[in-house]
Amino acid sequence: MKNPPQLHAIDFDSAKLQRLGFSQSSPLSHRPTTVAQLRQQLGLQLQTSLEPQCILGLFFREIQRLVPLDALHYSHQASDLRLEFGHRGHHSVSYALSHEGEHLGELVFRRNQRLMEEELSQLESLLATLLYPMRNALLYRAATRSALRDPLTETGNRIAMDQTLQREIDMARRHSTPLSLLMLDIDHFKRINDTHGHAAGDKVLRAVAASIKGQLRNVDMVFRFGGEEFLILLSNTGRDAAAVVGERLRQATQAQEYWADDIRIDLTVSLGCSTLLPAESAESLLRRADSALYVAKREGRNRLAMAG
Ligand code: GH3
Ligand code: MG
Ligand code: MG
Repeated sequence: MKNPPQLHAIDFDSAKLQRLGFSQSSPLSHRPTTVAQLRQQLGLQLQTSLEPQCILGLFFREIQRLVPLDALHYSHQASDLRLEFGHRGHHSVSYALSHEGEHLGELVFRRNQRLMEEELSQLESLLATLLYPMRNALLYRAATRSALRDPLTETGNRIAMDQTLQREIDMARRHSTPLSLLMLDIDHFKRINDTHGHAAGDKVLRAVAASIKGQLRNVDMVFRFGGEEFLILLSNTGRDAAAVVGERLRQATQAQEYWADDIRIDLTVSLGCSTLLPAESAESLLRRADSALYVAKREGRNRLAMAG
């Protein structure tokens, strides 16, 4: 009888992470350190991610070997980023991070006990290790976000839509929650272009997108689907609630004022709505919203039609 072959496996990933001091279970107290040692270690560790959440989470955890803290807050307005680690603390100290005139966000450290002078100078020294990792993470975030956005209307593009729709369908299945989709198309948009020019048409498109986003809680769920067509995903929303949202969007886009030079443009939209059926595909859900939109157009425009 032959012996089964012996299998040797080395997980290089976790070996490397352990070398860098990443092992999750190791208690902090086992690793006494100096500012210089910690700076060196953080310099290596923080380079291993491009996710702000991961970089700052690691930073928050590791700096506590020198300076115990209760919370860390980070915000960067330009990239719409807000992160919180830990809980509230009575005392706080904030730092605005910048590099060569570039704003890299604001950090707030919180603790129930006052922070001592020495601790502050240690924190400031450790903050330097965040500079390049955070700058790279913010650049990366801006690049990936712009690859998923429609630059004219600041809504998601088709790639973002495909990804988000599939993700939302999977979530709806897993949690047995409803999911609805609205397809919104501007009525007689060609006339606006023909009468007032393409630039005025672009301005109207931006205004319609802003109006839609102004009505919704989650602006990440609005996508430009075609030239003058938008798609709105409504998670955890059944047919009746989606009809209410659709009607609200119809009224809001109509109520908004649109101007081309000094001439007021009257504008209406038509909408089609579909709600995910058991075992339905993304394509089918889209197709049913599109058919409903077609019905709304055929029945006279400026209305919402529900998929059967
Ligand atoms: P309907 O009520 O049936 O939807 O009529 P419509 O005129 O809105 O529809 P149609 O599909 O005939 O025309 C859409 C127009 O949208 C045609 C195209 O020139 C214009 N369009 C598409 N993308 C853009 C864009 O980015 N900017 C501008 N200004 N116009 C666009
Ligand atoms: Mg149209
Ligand atoms: Mg259209």
